[in-house]
Amino acid sequence: MRSPSLRRTLGVAVVVAAALPGTGVRCGLLAAQPAQPDELRVDAERIERRILELSAFGRNLEGGVSRVAFSEADVAGRAYVMELMREAGLDVTVDAAGNIIGRLEGTDPSLPPIVFGSHIDSVPFGGNYDGDVGVIAAIECAQVLAESDVWTRHPLEVVVFSDEEGGLTGSRAMIGELGEAALGETTHSGLRRADGIRAIGGEPERLEEAKREPGEIAAFLELHIEQGALLYDEGIDIGVVEGIVGIEWWDVTIDGVANHAGTTPMKGRSDALLAAARYIQAVNEAVTSVPGRQVGTVGLISAEPGAHNVIPGRVRTSLEIRDLSREKIWMLFDQIKARTDEIAEETGTTFTFTLLDVSSVPAMTDERIRQIIAGAADELGLAWKSMPSGAGHDAQDMARLAPTGMIFVPSRGGISHSPEEFTSRQDMANGANVLLQTVLRIDRGALGSPR
Ligand SMILES: [Zn+2]
Repeated sequence: MRSPSLRRTLGVAVVVAAALPGTGVRCGLLAAQPAQPDELRVDAERIERRILELSAFGRNLEGGVSRVAFSEADVAGRAYVMELMREAGLDVTVDAAGNIIGRLEGTDPSLPPIVFGSHIDSVPFGGNYDGDVGVIAAIECAQVLAESDVWTRHPLEVVVFSDEEGGLTGSRAMIGELGEAALGETTHSGLRRADGIRAIGGEPERLEEAKREPGEIAAFLELHIEQGALLYDEGIDIGVVEGIVGIEWWDVTIDGVANHAGTTPMKGRSDALLAAARYIQAVNEAVTSVPGRQVGTVGLISAEPGAHNVIPGRVRTSLEIRDLSREKIWMLFDQIKARTDEIAEETGTTFTFTLLDVSSVPAMTDERIRQIIAGAADELGLAWKSMPSGAGHDAQDMARLAPTGMIFVPSRGGISHSPEEFTSRQDMANGANVLLQTVLRIDRGALGSPR
Protein backbone atom coordinates (compact mmCIF):
# COMPACT_ATOMS: atom_id res chain seq x y z
CA MET A 1 0.00 0.00 0.00
CA ARG A 2 1.20 3.46 -0.86
CA SER A 3 0.61 6.26 1.62
CA PRO A 4 1.53 9.94 1.89
CA SER A 5 3.64 9.28 4.98
CA LEU A 6 5.70 6.79 2.98
CA ARG A 7 6.29 9.45 0.38
CA ARG A 8 7.57 11.86 2.99
CA THR A 9 9.90 9.19 4.30
CA LEU A 10 11.21 8.47 0.83
CA GLY A 11 11.64 12.16 0.14
CA VAL A 12 13.81 12.59 3.23
CA ALA A 13 15.91 9.56 2.31
CA VAL A 14 16.66 10.94 -1.14
CA VAL A 15 17.61 14.37 0.20
CA VAL A 16 19.90 12.89 2.86
CA ALA A 17 21.57 10.62 0.33
CA ALA A 18 22.05 13.49 -2.08
CA ALA A 19 23.77 15.53 0.58
CA LEU A 20 26.42 12.86 1.06
CA PRO A 21 29.64 13.20 -0.89
CA GLY A 22 30.26 10.76 -3.71
CA THR A 23 26.60 10.09 -4.39
CA GLY A 24 26.42 11.45 -7.87
CA VAL A 25 23.96 8.87 -9.02
CA ARG A 26 21.61 9.79 -6.25
CA CYS A 27 22.07 13.46 -7.05
CA GLY A 28 20.88 12.49 -10.50
CA LEU A 29 17.82 10.93 -8.89
CA LEU A 30 17.18 14.11 -6.97
CA ALA A 31 17.47 16.10 -10.17
CA ALA A 32 14.61 14.02 -11.56
CA GLN A 33 12.05 15.97 -9.60
CA PRO A 34 8.51 14.67 -9.46
CA ALA A 35 6.99 15.16 -12.88
CA GLN A 36 4.60 18.02 -13.52
CA PRO A 37 1.12 16.50 -13.35
CA ASP A 38 0.22 17.91 -16.80
CA GLU A 39 3.15 16.04 -18.31
CA LEU A 40 2.29 12.62 -16.90
CA ARG A 41 1.55 9.98 -19.53
CA VAL A 42 0.44 6.39 -19.29
CA ASP A 43 2.50 3.45 -20.57
CA ALA A 44 0.70 2.26 -23.73
CA GLU A 45 2.71 -0.93 -23.98
CA ARG A 46 1.92 -1.90 -20.38
CA ILE A 47 -1.80 -1.29 -20.93
CA GLU A 48 -1.90 -3.51 -24.00
CA ARG A 49 0.17 -6.24 -22.36
CA ARG A 50 -2.20 -6.32 -19.39
CA ILE A 51 -5.27 -6.40 -21.63
CA LEU A 52 -3.78 -9.47 -23.31
CA GLU A 53 -2.90 -11.06 -19.98
CA LEU A 54 -6.42 -10.47 -18.68
CA SER A 55 -7.85 -12.06 -21.83
CA ALA A 56 -6.38 -15.42 -20.75
CA PHE A 57 -9.07 -15.74 -18.07
CA GLY A 58 -12.09 -17.31 -19.71
CA ARG A 59 -10.62 -17.29 -23.23
CA ASN A 60 -12.88 -18.93 -25.78
CA LEU A 61 -12.03 -20.69 -29.02
CA GLU A 62 -12.90 -17.60 -31.07
CA GLY A 63 -10.23 -15.53 -29.29
CA GLY A 64 -12.58 -13.58 -27.03
CA VAL A 65 -13.63 -14.39 -23.48
CA SER A 66 -16.62 -16.00 -21.83
CA ARG A 67 -15.88 -14.49 -18.42
CA VAL A 68 -19.41 -14.22 -17.13
CA ALA A 69 -19.80 -12.80 -13.65
CA PHE A 70 -19.23 -15.20 -10.74
CA SER A 71 -17.69 -17.92 -12.95
CA GLU A 72 -14.29 -19.46 -12.20
CA ALA A 73 -12.84 -17.32 -14.98
CA ASP A 74 -14.28 -14.20 -13.34
CA VAL A 75 -12.79 -15.17 -9.98
CA ALA A 76 -9.39 -15.79 -11.60
CA GLY A 77 -9.52 -12.55 -13.61
CA ARG A 78 -10.41 -10.61 -10.47
CA ALA A 79 -7.43 -12.12 -8.64
CA TYR A 80 -5.16 -11.00 -11.48
CA VAL A 81 -6.59 -7.47 -11.41
CA MET A 82 -6.26 -7.25 -7.61
CA GLU A 83 -2.59 -8.19 -7.95
CA LEU A 84 -2.10 -5.36 -10.46
CA MET A 85 -3.81 -2.98 -8.06
CA ARG A 86 -1.44 -3.92 -5.25
CA GLU A 87 1.49 -3.48 -7.61
CA ALA A 88 0.20 0.04 -8.30
CA GLY A 89 0.27 0.78 -4.56
CA LEU A 90 -3.48 0.53 -3.98
CA ASP A 91 -5.05 -0.81 -0.80
CA VAL A 92 -7.43 -3.49 -2.10
CA THR A 93 -10.75 -4.48 -0.52
CA VAL A 94 -13.91 -6.22 -1.76
CA ASP A 95 -17.18 -4.64 -0.63
CA ALA A 96 -20.34 -6.54 0.34
CA ALA A 97 -21.61 -6.48 -3.27
CA GLY A 98 -18.37 -7.95 -4.60
CA ASN A 99 -17.05 -4.68 -6.02
CA ILE A 100 -13.25 -4.53 -5.91
CA ILE A 101 -12.01 -1.22 -4.56
CA GLY A 102 -8.37 -0.16 -4.72
CA ARG A 103 -7.83 2.90 -2.60
CA LEU A 104 -5.03 5.39 -2.45
CA GLU A 105 -5.13 7.99 0.29
CA GLY A 106 -4.75 11.63 -0.67
CA THR A 107 -2.94 14.41 1.12
CA ASP A 108 -6.16 15.95 2.46
CA PRO A 109 -8.07 13.45 4.61
CA SER A 110 -11.13 15.74 4.70
CA LEU A 111 -11.85 15.27 0.99
CA PRO A 112 -14.17 12.62 -0.53
CA PRO A 113 -12.64 10.19 -3.04
CA ILE A 114 -12.49 10.54 -6.81
CA VAL A 115 -13.73 7.14 -8.02
CA PHE A 116 -12.97 5.66 -11.46
CA GLY A 117 -13.10 2.23 -13.05
CA SER A 118 -15.30 -0.18 -14.96
CA HIS A 119 -15.88 -3.98 -15.02
CA ILE A 120 -14.09 -7.16 -16.14
CA ASP A 121 -17.03 -9.57 -16.39
CA SER A 122 -18.17 -10.26 -19.95
CA VAL A 123 -21.22 -11.48 -21.78
CA PRO A 124 -21.09 -15.14 -22.92
CA PHE A 125 -18.80 -15.19 -26.00
CA GLY A 126 -17.69 -11.63 -25.36
CA GLY A 127 -14.53 -9.75 -26.28
CA ASN A 128 -11.35 -8.54 -24.61
CA TYR A 129 -12.01 -4.81 -24.36
CA ASP A 130 -15.54 -4.14 -23.07
CA GLY A 131 -15.00 -3.04 -19.46
CA ASP A 132 -11.43 -4.35 -19.38
CA VAL A 133 -10.03 -1.20 -20.99
CA GLY A 134 -11.58 0.98 -18.29
CA VAL A 135 -10.22 -1.19 -15.48
CA ILE A 136 -6.68 -1.62 -16.83
CA ALA A 137 -6.51 2.10 -17.68
CA ALA A 138 -7.71 3.09 -14.21
CA ILE A 139 -5.02 0.95 -12.58
CA GLU A 140 -2.49 2.42 -15.01
CA CYS A 141 -3.43 5.96 -13.92
CA ALA A 142 -2.84 5.04 -10.26
CA GLN A 143 0.44 3.35 -11.11
CA VAL A 144 1.72 6.31 -13.13
CA LEU A 145 0.98 8.60 -10.19
CA ALA A 146 2.83 6.25 -7.82
CA GLU A 147 5.83 5.91 -10.10
CA SER A 148 6.02 9.67 -10.60
CA ASP A 149 5.58 10.41 -6.90
CA VAL A 150 2.67 12.72 -7.66
CA TRP A 151 0.09 12.87 -4.89
CA THR A 152 -3.49 13.94 -5.21
CA ARG A 153 -5.35 15.85 -2.52
CA HIS A 154 -8.38 13.60 -2.82
CA PRO A 155 -8.23 9.90 -2.06
CA LEU A 156 -8.48 7.89 -5.28
CA GLU A 157 -10.56 4.73 -5.60
CA VAL A 158 -10.18 2.40 -8.56
CA VAL A 159 -13.36 0.32 -8.75
CA VAL A 160 -14.08 -2.94 -10.54
CA PHE A 161 -17.86 -3.32 -10.45
CA SER A 162 -19.26 -6.81 -9.96
CA ASP A 163 -21.52 -8.37 -12.59
CA GLU A 164 -21.98 -5.38 -14.89
CA GLU A 165 -23.23 -7.45 -17.80
CA GLY A 166 -25.81 -9.29 -15.71
CA GLY A 167 -27.62 -6.10 -14.69
CA LEU A 168 -25.21 -3.55 -13.19
CA THR A 169 -25.19 -5.55 -9.95
CA GLY A 170 -22.30 -3.81 -8.21
CA SER A 171 -23.35 -0.26 -8.99
CA ARG A 172 -26.98 -0.99 -8.17
CA ALA A 173 -25.83 -2.10 -4.73
CA MET A 174 -23.86 1.15 -4.40
CA ILE A 175 -27.06 3.15 -4.96
CA GLY A 176 -28.97 0.84 -2.61
CA GLU A 177 -31.23 -0.67 -5.28
CA LEU A 178 -30.13 -4.28 -5.46
CA GLY A 179 -33.23 -5.96 -4.08
CA GLU A 180 -34.23 -9.45 -2.98
CA ALA A 181 -35.69 -10.30 -6.38
CA ALA A 182 -32.38 -9.57 -8.13
CA LEU A 183 -30.47 -11.56 -5.52
CA GLY A 184 -32.65 -14.59 -6.22
CA GLU A 185 -32.24 -14.56 -10.00
CA THR A 186 -30.10 -17.19 -11.68
CA THR A 187 -27.13 -15.67 -13.50
CA HIS A 188 -25.16 -16.88 -16.54
CA SER A 189 -22.72 -18.58 -14.16
CA GLY A 190 -25.51 -20.91 -13.07
CA LEU A 191 -25.41 -19.44 -9.57
CA ARG A 192 -28.14 -17.40 -8.00
CA ARG A 193 -26.91 -13.81 -7.79
CA ALA A 194 -26.59 -13.96 -3.99
CA ASP A 195 -24.41 -17.08 -4.21
CA GLY A 196 -22.44 -15.49 -7.01
CA ILE A 197 -21.70 -12.44 -4.89
CA ARG A 198 -20.51 -14.81 -2.16
CA ALA A 199 -18.29 -16.64 -4.68
CA ILE A 200 -16.37 -13.43 -5.41
CA GLY A 201 -15.90 -12.44 -1.79
CA GLY A 202 -19.00 -10.34 -1.16
CA GLU A 203 -21.59 -10.69 1.58
CA PRO A 204 -25.11 -10.46 0.14
CA GLU A 205 -26.71 -10.31 3.58
CA ARG A 206 -24.79 -7.12 4.33
CA LEU A 207 -25.42 -5.29 1.06
CA GLU A 208 -26.28 -2.05 2.80
CA GLU A 209 -22.60 -1.73 3.70
CA ALA A 210 -21.79 -1.37 -0.01
CA LYS A 211 -24.21 1.54 -0.30
CA ARG A 212 -22.79 5.02 -0.86
CA GLU A 213 -24.63 8.25 -0.19
CA PRO A 214 -24.80 11.25 -2.52
CA GLY A 215 -21.92 13.55 -1.59
CA GLU A 216 -19.65 10.74 -0.39
CA ILE A 217 -17.90 10.67 -3.76
CA ALA A 218 -16.28 13.76 -5.31
CA ALA A 219 -16.67 12.50 -8.87
CA PHE A 220 -17.06 9.26 -10.82
CA LEU A 221 -15.29 8.60 -14.12
CA GLU A 222 -15.48 5.64 -16.50
CA LEU A 223 -13.40 4.99 -19.60
CA HIS A 224 -15.03 2.50 -21.97
CA ILE A 225 -14.94 1.35 -25.57
CA GLU A 226 -17.66 3.03 -27.62
CA GLN A 227 -19.37 -0.21 -28.76
CA GLY A 228 -20.64 1.71 -31.77
CA ALA A 229 -18.85 2.98 -34.87
CA LEU A 230 -19.20 6.76 -34.67
CA LEU A 231 -15.60 7.38 -33.50
CA TYR A 232 -14.06 4.64 -35.64
CA ASP A 233 -15.82 5.70 -38.83
CA GLU A 234 -14.95 9.36 -38.39
CA GLY A 235 -11.38 8.77 -37.18
CA ILE A 236 -12.02 10.59 -33.89
CA ASP A 237 -9.92 9.70 -30.82
CA ILE A 238 -12.21 10.44 -27.90
CA GLY A 239 -15.95 10.44 -27.24
CA VAL A 240 -17.18 12.80 -24.55
CA VAL A 241 -20.30 11.05 -23.34
CA GLU A 242 -23.28 13.36 -22.85
CA GLY A 243 -25.30 10.75 -21.06
CA ILE A 244 -26.53 7.20 -21.09
CA VAL A 245 -29.78 6.74 -22.94
CA GLY A 246 -33.01 5.80 -21.28
CA ILE A 247 -34.68 2.63 -22.52
CA GLU A 248 -38.34 1.62 -22.68
CA TRP A 249 -39.65 -1.80 -23.72
CA TRP A 250 -43.15 -2.79 -24.70
CA ASP A 251 -44.71 -6.15 -25.48
CA VAL A 252 -47.00 -5.66 -28.47
CA THR A 253 -49.85 -8.01 -29.30
CA ILE A 254 -51.79 -7.75 -32.55
CA ASP A 255 -55.09 -9.62 -32.73
CA GLY A 256 -56.78 -10.51 -35.98
CA VAL A 257 -58.81 -13.55 -37.00
CA ALA A 258 -57.21 -16.90 -37.82
CA ASN A 259 -58.90 -18.51 -40.78
CA HIS A 260 -58.43 -20.89 -43.70
CA ALA A 261 -55.79 -19.52 -46.08
CA GLY A 262 -57.41 -21.17 -49.07
CA THR A 263 -61.06 -20.40 -48.65
CA THR A 264 -60.94 -16.89 -47.15
CA PRO A 265 -60.78 -14.24 -49.90
CA MET A 266 -58.09 -11.56 -49.68
CA LYS A 267 -60.76 -8.97 -49.10
CA GLY A 268 -62.15 -9.13 -45.60
CA ARG A 269 -59.22 -10.87 -43.90
CA SER A 270 -58.02 -9.74 -40.46
CA ASP A 271 -54.39 -10.72 -40.92
CA ALA A 272 -52.38 -9.94 -37.79
CA LEU A 273 -49.05 -10.55 -39.53
CA LEU A 274 -49.88 -8.14 -42.34
CA ALA A 275 -50.64 -5.55 -39.64
CA ALA A 276 -47.33 -6.40 -37.98
CA ALA A 277 -45.44 -5.81 -41.22
CA ARG A 278 -46.96 -2.33 -41.48
CA TYR A 279 -46.28 -1.73 -37.80
CA ILE A 280 -42.57 -2.53 -38.16
CA GLN A 281 -42.35 -0.10 -41.07
CA ALA A 282 -44.24 2.54 -39.07
CA VAL A 283 -41.79 2.28 -36.14
CA ASN A 284 -38.86 2.92 -38.43
CA GLU A 285 -40.61 5.86 -40.09
CA ALA A 286 -41.63 7.47 -36.79
CA VAL A 287 -38.18 7.17 -35.21
CA THR A 288 -36.44 8.61 -38.27
CA SER A 289 -39.02 11.37 -38.80
CA VAL A 290 -37.38 13.76 -36.31
CA PRO A 291 -33.74 14.87 -36.03
CA GLY A 292 -31.55 13.36 -33.32
CA ARG A 293 -29.83 10.12 -32.36
CA GLN A 294 -32.85 8.27 -30.96
CA VAL A 295 -33.22 4.62 -31.94
CA GLY A 296 -36.28 2.38 -32.15
CA THR A 297 -36.30 -1.35 -32.74
CA VAL A 298 -38.77 -4.18 -33.26
CA GLY A 299 -36.65 -7.12 -32.20
CA LEU A 300 -38.91 -10.12 -31.90
CA ILE A 301 -41.95 -11.51 -33.60
CA SER A 302 -44.00 -14.70 -33.64
CA ALA A 303 -47.22 -15.54 -35.46
CA GLU A 304 -50.00 -17.81 -34.22
CA PRO A 305 -51.05 -20.39 -34.98
CA GLY A 306 -48.06 -20.39 -37.34
CA ALA A 307 -48.78 -22.57 -40.36
CA HIS A 308 -48.48 -22.23 -44.14
CA ASN A 309 -52.20 -22.58 -44.63
CA VAL A 310 -53.63 -20.46 -41.81
CA ILE A 311 -54.11 -16.68 -41.79
CA PRO A 312 -52.25 -15.48 -38.68
CA GLY A 313 -54.77 -14.63 -35.97
CA ARG A 314 -52.34 -13.27 -33.44
CA VAL A 315 -48.83 -11.78 -33.54
CA ARG A 316 -46.65 -11.21 -30.53
CA THR A 317 -43.99 -8.63 -31.17
CA SER A 318 -42.06 -5.90 -29.38
CA LEU A 319 -40.98 -2.28 -29.29
CA GLU A 320 -37.85 -0.72 -27.83
CA ILE A 321 -37.05 3.00 -27.91
CA ARG A 322 -33.84 4.60 -26.56
CA ASP A 323 -32.91 8.26 -26.20
CA LEU A 324 -31.25 10.71 -23.83
CA SER A 325 -34.62 12.43 -23.40
CA ARG A 326 -37.49 10.63 -21.74
CA GLU A 327 -39.93 13.12 -23.28
CA LYS A 328 -38.70 12.26 -26.74
CA ILE A 329 -39.11 8.53 -26.09
CA TRP A 330 -42.75 9.09 -25.14
CA MET A 331 -43.36 11.54 -27.98
CA LEU A 332 -42.17 8.86 -30.43
CA PHE A 333 -44.28 6.24 -28.70
CA ASP A 334 -47.36 8.45 -29.11
CA GLN A 335 -46.60 8.82 -32.83
CA ILE A 336 -46.22 5.06 -33.25
CA LYS A 337 -49.41 4.46 -31.30
CA ALA A 338 -51.36 6.89 -33.50
CA ARG A 339 -50.06 5.16 -36.61
CA THR A 340 -51.05 1.72 -35.28
CA ASP A 341 -54.60 2.99 -34.74
CA GLU A 342 -54.73 3.59 -38.51
CA ILE A 343 -53.13 0.23 -39.30
CA ALA A 344 -55.64 -1.53 -37.04
CA GLU A 345 -58.47 0.17 -38.90
CA GLU A 346 -57.03 -0.74 -42.31
CA THR A 347 -56.38 -4.38 -41.43
CA GLY A 348 -59.28 -5.20 -39.12
CA THR A 349 -56.98 -5.92 -36.20
CA THR A 350 -56.34 -4.54 -32.72
CA PHE A 351 -53.03 -3.54 -31.14
CA THR A 352 -52.23 -3.87 -27.42
CA PHE A 353 -49.08 -2.27 -25.98
CA THR A 354 -47.86 -3.43 -22.54
CA LEU A 355 -45.07 -1.40 -20.97
CA LEU A 356 -42.52 -3.70 -19.30
CA ASP A 357 -41.10 -2.97 -15.88
CA VAL A 358 -37.50 -2.84 -17.07
CA SER A 359 -37.26 0.78 -18.09
CA SER A 360 -34.12 2.70 -17.35
CA VAL A 361 -34.22 6.44 -17.14
CA PRO A 362 -31.71 8.53 -19.08
CA ALA A 363 -28.66 9.45 -16.98
CA MET A 364 -26.87 12.65 -17.91
CA THR A 365 -23.17 13.15 -17.28
CA ASP A 366 -21.98 16.29 -15.51
CA GLU A 367 -21.61 19.30 -17.80
CA ARG A 368 -18.48 20.49 -15.98
CA ILE A 369 -16.80 17.09 -16.27
CA ARG A 370 -17.65 16.97 -19.99
CA GLN A 371 -15.77 20.25 -20.38
CA ILE A 372 -12.83 18.97 -18.34
CA ILE A 373 -12.61 15.81 -20.49
CA ALA A 374 -12.81 17.85 -23.70
CA GLY A 375 -10.17 20.29 -22.40
CA ALA A 376 -7.84 17.42 -21.48
CA ALA A 377 -8.31 15.89 -24.94
CA ASP A 378 -7.54 19.26 -26.56
CA GLU A 379 -4.32 19.63 -24.60
CA LEU A 380 -3.29 16.11 -25.53
CA GLY A 381 -3.87 16.99 -29.19
CA LEU A 382 -6.71 14.50 -29.53
CA ALA A 383 -9.84 14.94 -31.63
CA TRP A 384 -13.07 14.51 -29.68
CA LYS A 385 -16.80 14.65 -30.16
CA SER A 386 -19.80 14.68 -27.85
CA MET A 387 -22.08 11.68 -28.11
CA PRO A 388 -24.68 9.69 -26.18
CA SER A 389 -24.04 6.17 -24.95
CA GLY A 390 -26.56 3.82 -26.51
CA ALA A 391 -25.51 1.01 -24.17
CA GLY A 392 -26.01 0.82 -20.41
CA HIS A 393 -23.08 1.28 -18.00
CA ASP A 394 -22.43 1.38 -14.26
CA ALA A 395 -21.92 5.12 -14.77
CA GLN A 396 -25.71 5.53 -15.11
CA ASP A 397 -26.12 4.39 -11.51
CA MET A 398 -23.10 6.35 -10.27
CA ALA A 399 -24.54 9.54 -11.82
CA ARG A 400 -27.12 9.44 -9.03
CA LEU A 401 -24.37 9.60 -6.40
CA ALA A 402 -21.78 11.96 -7.83
CA PRO A 403 -20.93 14.25 -10.74
CA THR A 404 -20.14 11.67 -13.43
CA GLY A 405 -18.16 11.64 -16.65
CA MET A 406 -17.59 9.00 -19.31
CA ILE A 407 -14.83 8.78 -21.89
CA PHE A 408 -15.22 6.62 -25.02
CA VAL A 409 -12.46 5.28 -27.25
CA PRO A 410 -13.05 3.79 -30.73
CA SER A 411 -14.27 0.22 -31.25
CA ARG A 412 -13.00 -1.18 -34.55
CA GLY A 413 -15.96 -1.51 -36.88
CA GLY A 414 -18.27 -0.61 -34.01
CA ILE A 415 -18.27 -4.27 -32.93
CA SER A 416 -18.69 -5.30 -29.28
CA HIS A 417 -20.03 -8.19 -27.21
CA SER A 418 -18.12 -10.36 -29.65
CA PRO A 419 -14.64 -11.93 -29.91
CA GLU A 420 -14.17 -9.53 -32.85
CA GLU A 421 -14.10 -6.59 -30.43
CA PHE A 422 -10.87 -4.57 -30.85
CA THR A 423 -9.42 -1.25 -29.72
CA SER A 424 -5.87 -0.32 -30.67
CA ARG A 425 -3.03 0.23 -28.21
CA GLN A 426 -2.87 3.91 -29.17
CA ASP A 427 -6.61 4.42 -28.70
CA MET A 428 -6.50 2.77 -25.27
CA ALA A 429 -3.54 4.94 -24.26
CA ASN A 430 -5.28 8.08 -25.54
CA GLY A 431 -8.31 7.30 -23.41
CA ALA A 432 -6.17 6.50 -20.37
CA ASN A 433 -4.26 9.77 -20.73
CA VAL A 434 -7.52 11.70 -20.91
CA LEU A 435 -8.74 9.81 -17.83
CA LEU A 436 -5.52 10.58 -15.94
CA GLN A 437 -5.62 14.28 -16.79
CA THR A 438 -9.31 14.47 -15.94
CA VAL A 439 -8.67 12.93 -12.51
CA LEU A 440 -5.84 15.40 -11.89
CA ARG A 441 -7.90 18.41 -12.96
CA ILE A 442 -10.83 17.41 -10.79
CA ASP A 443 -8.39 16.90 -7.95
CA ARG A 444 -7.10 20.43 -8.41
CA GLY A 445 -10.64 21.78 -8.08
CA ALA A 446 -11.77 21.99 -11.70
CA LEU A 447 -15.31 21.13 -10.69
CA GLY A 448 -15.40 24.52 -9.07
CA SER A 449 -17.06 23.33 -5.87
CA PRO A 450 -15.70 24.50 -2.52
CA ARG A 451 -14.21 21.03 -2.04
ZN1 LIG B 1 -19.03 -2.63 -20.50
